[in-house]
Amino acid sequence: MTSPFDLSGKRALVTGANTGLGQGIAVALAAAGAEVIGVGRSAMDETRDKIEAAGGRFRALSADLSTLEPVERIVSQASEDGRVDILVNNAGIIRRADAIDFTEADWDAVMDVNLKTTFFLTQGFARRMLEDGKGGKVINIASLLSFQGGIRIPSYTASKSGLAGLTRLLACEWASRGINVNAIAPGYFVTNNTEALREDAARNEAILARIPAGHWGAPEELGGAAVFLASRAATYVHGVVLPVDGGWLAR
Ligand code: NAD
Repeated sequence: MTSPFDLSGKRALVTGANTGLGQGIAVALAAAGAEVIGVGRSAMDETRDKIEAAGGRFRALSADLSTLEPVERIVSQASEDGRVDILVNNAGIIRRADAIDFTEADWDAVMDVNLKTTFFLTQGFARRMLEDGKGGKVINIASLLSFQGGIRIPSYTASKSGLAGLTRLLACEWASRGINVNAIAPGYFVTNNTEALREDAARNEAILARIPAGHWGAPEELGGAAVFLASRAATYVHGVVLPVDGGWLAR
């Protein structure tokens, strides 16, 4: 009997796979048997080394996701030697400033990467999935700011709240056609994205005190949720935003 979480023979594309949560997800999907394509603007050697050292397969595609310019190329190059079965929209950025001072540039930059490119990249892969009728899995990396307000991150909160809505909309449109669209909402994880928070002693302490698990998440602690949502085990799971947050939202 094969495990319902087995991803052998599947091809997964992960955006922003060079570091942080994207790397954790890429490594976990590869460990479950998937061939992984990483898409990003930085070298992905560390991710490749981790995957290949464990006997997995990894390919890198270079692209800057701040505009829609590379979207068609990514879809066609990623599908060159076979279909993409699993799409993980992980690449994302954050800009911090008081709402009263927030600039249009910081608004647009975050919305473009976190929401606009995510939507059109998903549309590009979904067209192929719907065309060949074999379905697929889309996993969006949302945030606790898909549920909560946060402070000093207006465009980030808007983008991640928007991403939760988009996850549900796409699930409603595509569930009957074999595509599962779901999201993961990571809590507070140790990555570049949260460096400023961890360096602020007072914020760091306040955040830690609120996490029932008592520690910041490590990227490896996120991979299992992605494997589940990418696998046969999640065939009837549609439109959820799954918190992986050490209990933060339960508090
Ligand atoms: P990170 O900054 O380490 O990684 C972000 C990734 O996105 C990097 O690989 C980066 O290269 C890529 N990226 C950003 N802009 C890009 C662009 N224009 N083109 C191509 N790639 C681009 O941070 P992370 O924490 O690993 O973030 C990954 C995702 O998880 C993001 O969507 C983030 O919002 C989300 N998230 C993180 C946390 C956390 O606690 N770290 C919590 C909730 C959600």
